[in-house]
Amino acid sequence: MRRKLAAGNWKMNGLRRDLTEIDALLALHPAPQVDLLLCLPSVLLLEGAARAEGHALTIGAQDCHHRPAGAHTGDISASMVADTGASAVILGHSERRDEHEESSEIVRKKARRAMEAGLTAVICLGESLDEREALNTLDIIDGQLSASVPDNATGLNLVIAYEPIWAIGTGLTPTLEQIGEVHDFIRTRLERRFGPGVGQAVRILYGGSVKPENCAEIFQVSNVDGALVGGASLKADDFSLIINALEASV
Ligand code: PEP
Repeated sequence: MRRKLAAGNWKMNGLRRDLTEIDALLALHPAPQVDLLLCLPSVLLLEGAARAEGHALTIGAQDCHHRPAGAHTGDISASMVADTGASAVILGHSERRDEHEESSEIVRKKARRAMEAGLTAVICLGESLDEREALNTLDIIDGQLSASVPDNATGLNLVIAYEPIWAIGTGLTPTLEQIGEVHDFIRTRLERRFGPGVGQAVRILYGGSVKPENCAEIFQVSNVDGALVGGASLKADDFSLIINALEASV
């Protein structure tokens, strides 16, 4: 069985003083029944990873460069991320695909680097509202999935996050049927490409306005193995309620 995963994404939020939220989270969940991951701004990785060391909380980054090193001012490499003590990285978040014009081909290169550096790549996929209304959500997901995921993916080094762009930070969420349709589709595609072993082992998270109020029903949907949470991961008390609901769904 896949172990459930509650992942938080602080995005461009948080200063060093906010890392006390990690201490609060660890106090609330000393022995979680699900995996916990918190993806921090890069300047907080080192201190965040130090606070989480020895606890059942993994720290992750929100991006890395697709080359191993060199003249890439302002960027950080996958091995730099790993060197901080982090063990995962979000790649292809829609905000990066949009604001930094990241293509699925670049995401795949980044994911390969991340996996080579020993990181788990949390690869985000999702359709826009126009695409959803044009009824081609599964085509969009299919294209992003096949182009963004490298061939060396395994159940350990890959997590997929389905995040409809129109649901991120908006308070809107798809229906449970819509979430289930996409998650089942992703599972089928992973099995077809990687075989049943890897295809069944990769965790598929739902992301997009997951809150304490709506998460319990989302966690009942087939092939939802947890959540990638933005705004509601900033405060330990909010994130903790989502973790509790995920634990209750196991
Ligand atoms: C996200 O950042 O990936 C996200 C889903 O954000 P939110 O939960 O705030 O919608």
